[in-house]
Amino acid sequence: MGRDPDCVFCKIAAGEVPSFMLYEDDATLAFMDINPANEGHALVIPKEHATDLYTVSDEALARTTLTARKVAGAVTKTLNPDGLNLVQCNGPAAGQSVMHFHVHVLPRVNDDCLSMNWGLKLGDIDAIGRLAERIRQWI
Ligand code: AMP
Ligand code: ZN
Repeated sequence: MGRDPDCVFCKIAAGEVPSFMLYEDDATLAFMDINPANEGHALVIPKEHATDLYTVSDEALARTTLTARKVAGAVTKTLNPDGLNLVQCNGPAAGQSVMHFHVHVLPRVNDDCLSMNWGLKLGDIDAIGRLAERIRQWI
């Protein structure tokens, strides 16, 4: 399975960088975003390294999408948000900051006024860990 030695998500997949893991199978991983745009913000990645939507393999894309649906269901069971976005960014102009294909699972709240260009603001790490534990129950 291809990896990029400088890629933080490849390092998470290899267990070399810590994460609040939600789900893992042979092809995909899901973990909490440590700069949550809203409570419950999670990320889903293929284990094999690919930069973006255009280079990810069909198999990895399909598996990532299936895992995203699974995680979205668990987040919704946990938090009962008003809505939920799957967001996927390609290139810096689209807001991509980590060059390993990923899908954001982003719960929404009525009138949260979230725009597509949210900044990075470190979350409450203890609270993220506790929430990861709750979401895992539903996967
Ligand atoms: P994007 O801007 O679409 O590339 O999204 C990358 C996301 O990865 C951002 O929301 C970051 O908060 C998140 N992120 C970066 N490094 C980590 C990490 N070590 N653990 C969890 N989330 C991360
Ligand atoms: Zn990678």
